[in-house]
Amino acid sequence: MIDTLHEERAVQPFPVLVSLMIRRWLMEGTESVDYYGVGQLLTEDERIFRDRVQNFVDDECMPIIADHFDKGTLPMQLIPRMAEMGLFGIHVEGYGCRRSSHTVYGLACQELGRCDSGLRAMFSVQNSLVMYPIFAFGSEEQKKQWLPKMARGEAIGCFGLSEPDFGSNPSGMATHAEKRGRTYILNGTKMWITNGSIAQVALVWAKTDGEIRGYLVEAGTPGFQSTLIQRKFSYRTSPTSLLVLRDCEIPERNLLPGTKGLKSILQCLNGARYGVACGALGSAIACYQMARAFAVERRVFENPIASYQLVQEPLVRAIVEITKAQLISYHLGRLLDQDRATPMQISLAKLNHVREAMKIARMARDILGARGILADHHVIRHLCDLEAVSTLEGTENIHTLIIGQELTGVSAFRSSVSE
Ligand SMILES: Cc1cc2nc3c(=O)[nH]c(=O)nc-3n(C[C@H](O)[C@H](O)[C@H](O)COP(=O)(O)OP(=O)(O)OC[C@H]3O[C@@H](n4cnc5c(N)ncnc54)[C@H](O)[C@@H]3O)c2cc1C
Repeated sequence: MIDTLHEERAVQPFPVLVSLMIRRWLMEGTESVDYYGVGQLLTEDERIFRDRVQNFVDDECMPIIADHFDKGTLPMQLIPRMAEMGLFGIHVEGYGCRRSSHTVYGLACQELGRCDSGLRAMFSVQNSLVMYPIFAFGSEEQKKQWLPKMARGEAIGCFGLSEPDFGSNPSGMATHAEKRGRTYILNGTKMWITNGSIAQVALVWAKTDGEIRGYLVEAGTPGFQSTLIQRKFSYRTSPTSLLVLRDCEIPERNLLPGTKGLKSILQCLNGARYGVACGALGSAIACYQMARAFAVERRVFENPIASYQLVQEPLVRAIVEITKAQLISYHLGRLLDQDRATPMQISLAKLNHVREAMKIARMARDILGARGILADHHVIRHLCDLEAVSTLEGTENIHTLIIGQELTGVSAFRSSVSE
C-alpha cells in the first residue's frame, strides 16, 4: 500500500524542456573537448568512423540510457544497430567482420563510454574478450560457427575468468576441465561475468592437468547455468552474472586449441584494458561537458556560477587531465596498431584514466548541486559506474604492481606471508 502511494505521488522533477537542454549540453561533440587537436591526428577514415559512432550515441543511446540505468537493463535494441554499423569484430579479419585498427576500437570505446560504461562493456567483451580469442586461438570450425553470427549481433559472448575466490590472481583458479574420452567435463564457478546471462556462448577458462585453457560453452548445455547478479549499484545496464558449471560436458572440439596458459588470457586482456581506459576517458569527457555547460547557465548570487574562481578551477583541472589522457590514448592506440605496446603502458593508461575520470565525475556531481544526483543529468550514472570500472580488468593496486615490476624488476604481487 505504502509503495503504491509512493508511486502515485512520484512526479517527473524536470520537464521535457530541461531534458532537451541537457541533451544539447552533452551533444557538443568530442571535438569541442580537444584542446591539443588530437582529433586532427586521426586519419580521415578514423574521424568518419568516430563521428558515426558519436552520432549513434547522441541520437540513439543517450535518449534512452538513463531509463535503462534506472531499471537495471541493457538496451538490447541497440545490439542490431551496432552490428549494422560494423562495431562487432573490429579485431577480426574475414568471417563477416570488418577488421579495423586498435585506434578505431579505442575511439568506439570512448564514444560508448561517453554514454554508459555498461553499454561500452557489452561492446568491449564481445570484441576483445570473445571474438578476438576465437579468431586468435580458435579452430577454423569454431571461427566459422561463431564469428559471422557474432558480427551480425545474433550471438553475444561472455568471458568467464574471475571466480569467487580468484579475481586479481586468476592463475589460482579452481575451475577445471577433465578430459574424458572425446569430451571435457567442466566443474567450477565464474563470478562477475559481463554479458553472462544474455550470452549464447561463454569462453570459460579452466585448468586441465594444471594448465589453463579456454573452452567454449554454449548456453543451454546441461550442467551450465548463468544467473544475473541483482541489486548492483554500479554497471546497472550491464548484465553481470554468476556462471556455475556442474559436471558440464562439452565436446573436445570446444577447446580453443591455440590457448596456452595465462599468456593467452593476458593477450586478450591487453586489448580489453585499452578499451576500458578509453571508455573511462569518454565518461570523463561527458561529466566535464555537463559540468561546464551547467556552470555557464546556472545563476547563483545573481551570477553564473562559472564566473566564480572556485568553480573555474576544478573545470580547468579536469581539462588538463582529459587532455593528457587523450594524448596517452591516441599514442597507445598507435603503439597497439604497430604491435609495440607493452603491458606496462596499457596498465598506466587504465590506472590513470579511471583514476582521473573518477575525480572528474565527482567534481561534476558537486558543480551540478542537487541535480547532480539525478540519472537524467547523467553524472551520477558515470560516478557509480566508474566504481566498477576501477575494479574490473585489474584494480588500481594490480596495475600499480605491474608498473612497479617494470620499473624495479621486482615482482611485489606476493607478500612474504604467502612464501
Ligand atoms: C561489474 C564487473 C564486471 C566484471 N566483468 C568480468 C568479466 O566479464 N569477466 C571476468 O572474468 N571478470 C569480470 N569481473 C571481475 C573483475 O575482473 C574482478 O572483480 C577483479 O579482477 C578484482 O577481483 P576481486 O573482485 O576478486 O578482488 P580481489 O582480487 O579479492 O581484490 C580485493 C582487493 O585486494 C587488492 N589486492 C589484491 N591483490 C593485491 C596485491 N597483491 N597487492 C595489493 N593489493 C591487492 C585489490 O586491489 C582489491 O582492492 C568484473 C567485475 C565487475 C565489478
